[in-house]
Amino acid sequence: MSAAQLQVSNLTVAFGGSRPVVAVDSCSLSVNRGEVVALVGESGSGKSTLARAAAGLVRPSSGRIVIDGHDMAEVGQAQARVLRRRVQMVFQNPDASLNPYHRIGTALREPLVVRGMRDRAAIDERVRNLMSMVRLDGALLERRPRELSGGQKQRVAIARALAMEPTLLIADEALAALDLSTQATVSNLLAELRDRLGLAILFISHDLGLVGHLADRIAIMRYGRILETGRCSAVLANPSHPYTRLLIDSTPDLARGGLDLDHFDENEAEGMTA
Ligand code: ADP
Ligand code: MG
Repeated sequence: MSAAQLQVSNLTVAFGGSRPVVAVDSCSLSVNRGEVVALVGESGSGKSTLARAAAGLVRPSSGRIVIDGHDMAEVGQAQARVLRRRVQMVFQNPDASLNPYHRIGTALREPLVVRGMRDRAAIDERVRNLMSMVRLDGALLERRPRELSGGQKQRVAIARALAMEPTLLIADEALAALDLSTQATVSNLLAELRDRLGLAILFISHDLGLVGHLADRIAIMRYGRILETGRCSAVLANPSHPYTRLLIDSTPDLARGGLDLDHFDENEAEGMTA
């Protein structure tokens, strides 16, 4: 079996209605274990639709989606459910996935119960383990979402995704709403999860500075098509498509030689573990 956790081939997704739109047009993309692949492009280019198709949330019009070596068109319903669970998404707004009335502890126990865990002590231990994976202090388990910072809430959303034991994490503009230093620390967290867990990450962003810092490979998308893919450092240093050049030139930090995010400390706010 190849190292590809996700392999999308010639994927097309069209939406019907009075004004039909081909949101994703014959796209091919893979994400390997222990690799961050960035999907970059302006708003409306089809990034979220490609991601949602990969996660089984949108039906492809044509093309192949292979998860962990299994062609999703060929597996039975039960196996499809198991494979889809291995693909978890984190979105821009963590509040959308957190019940404001539930304590953080409840938010993290819930997916474990969904996965069939019943033993209370084992659940509590796993919850503490998830908190430490996303570098949050266990004391936050008693708090409600409104008592947390944006960065802390996004870490909780990532922990909830990790509770499903995914092999592929899709972060769809997951850092876009955070301030700059929080973006850096959460981006460092994603890199750590890739390295420690061998997680495959599809990182959707329009921020080339962040992408250049985090991604191993990059795919540039526009009007539903992937224009260019390659090693991130190579594509950013020497783009082959004029649109990629345009994106790079409109990112001042990148044009100046790249953002230096490594100097940001993991001390964004109180409640973070050392
Ligand atoms: P991106 O994430 O790159 O901003 P999207 O995948 O959200 O792009 O959207 C790509 C195109 O598909 C847009 O033109 C959008 O309006 C359209 N689209 C997305 N979702 C739907 C839907 N559920 N029904 C109809 N059109 C959609
Ligand atoms: Mg989107």
